[in-house]
Amino acid sequence: MSGRLPGELRRLLGPTGPDVGCDVCFDELDRYVELELAGADAEAAVPGMRAHLEGCPACAEEHEALIALVAHDASG
Ligand SMILES: [Zn+2]
Repeated sequence: MSGRLPGELRRLLGPTGPDVGCDVCFDELDRYVELELAGADAEAAVPGMRAHLEGCPACAEEHEALIALVAHDASG
């Protein structure tokens, strides 16, 4: 993974509010997805995560892949 945007550039692109950034996103993604799938308020647990996923295609893709993986695990 090497396609990250610097925070300053992201800020120029639009007022998206708080954004955790790729490092935190990567660290918290497991927990975030588990909370989401449990019906909990994942955004409250990791503020800024939603904004980051909306603004970062790489992490959004990772997020979707993890949801598919966890959902598959849970059903099996
Ligand atoms: Zn990212």
